[in-house]
Parts: sequence; C-alpha cells; structure tokens
Amino acid sequence: MESLKDLEEHIGDCHRCPLGDTRTHLVFGVGREDADIMFVGEAPGRNEDLKGEPFVGAAGRLLDELLASIGLDREDVYIANILKCRPPGNRNPQQVEIDTCTPFLREQVRLVSPRVIVTLGNFATRFVLKTTESITRMRGTVQQAGHFTVLPIYHPAAALYDGSKRDVLFADLALLGQMCEASQATEQRERP
Ligand code: SF4
Repeated sequence: MESLKDLEEHIGDCHRCPLGDTRTHLVFGVGREDADIMFVGEAPGRNEDLKGEPFVGAAGRLLDELLASIGLDREDVYIANILKCRPPGNRNPQQVEIDTCTPFLREQVRLVSPRVIVTLGNFATRFVLKTTESITRMRGTVQQAGHFTVLPIYHPAAALYDGSKRDVLFADLALLGQMCEASQATEQRERP
C-alpha cells in the first residue's frame, strides 16, 4: 500500500467482521497524511457512524478544544480508531473485531509515520502499548512502542460524563504541546 487512499480502497465496503453488517458508514480516518501527531481512538459512536467521520458530536468538539489549547487543529493531525465500524449500542469492541480490523490501523500508522501517537482511552492504549494497564494508570505518561513515542490520555467522551477528567485531559494535552516544542527545538538545532 503506497497511500492512505490505496488503503481506503483496499478496505472498501468491508464485511470482514460482523460490524460490517450493522454499521451505517465505515469511518476510515481523517487528517494529514504526513502528520507528526496521530490520535487513535476506540471506535465510531452514533454520530460518527451516521456521518462517516471520526470524532463528530460533543466528544469531537472537546477534541477540537483540546487541539486548540496547544495551537493545533484537525488539519494538523491524523485521527483514526481501533475499529472502523460502530459496535451496536456503543458496546466495547470485541477481541475478534480488534484482531480483524487493526491491521488497517497498523497500515495507517505505517503510512502516516507520526512522531507521536496519542492513544485515547483504554482500548487504544492497550492495543498500541500491548499492555493490560488501565488508562487511569497510564495517562499522561510518555511511553515508547517501537520507534513511536506514545502518549496515552483519557478518551474525550469519558470527560463528557466525568468533569474531573476534563482538567486532566487539558493538562495531558499541555504535555503533548511541550513534547512538540522540544522536538521542534531539537530539529532546529540539528539542521545544518
Ligand atoms: S470493523 Fe473493521 S474489519 Fe470489521 S467490518 Fe468494519 S472495517 Fe471491516
């Protein structure tokens, strides 16, 4: 696969797992193909399923606010999910669905090749970091997965139901902002 477009065509009207039969729209992902930062969420929710876009609705608006807090917007990053189709009733992803769908996410990561992967919530964090630790323990800690730097944070949807997580999310985004500044400073120093 040479581009995200090739990958999207390869996925096509996917029915490789049972979620293909219950979804409205497959939600592939959006953003810059050469983004330095990639956000990985869990799965489309109701609004995403209806629109075919990741992070629309209230959680999406909070994600936009979080990005704006460090001077970014959606066009600066790439956003994708562990699953491309909505689990009915927003239930948790099942292992067979994760196993079937995540080769597409791996390919997205390979093609975008970000400097930092920000994992949103338990499922994305556990998948990317191959851990069983909870997001409550992992959030706000800088991790490594292969040559990728990984920052786990709460899923924005979790902060909609628990206001205390909102402040924590903004603090973790501030850490992401600092990581980006440090990386840019290193890049400038190394420039001939
Ligand atoms: S969740 Fe993934 S594997 Fe399952 S049907 Fe959708 S795109 Fe295909």
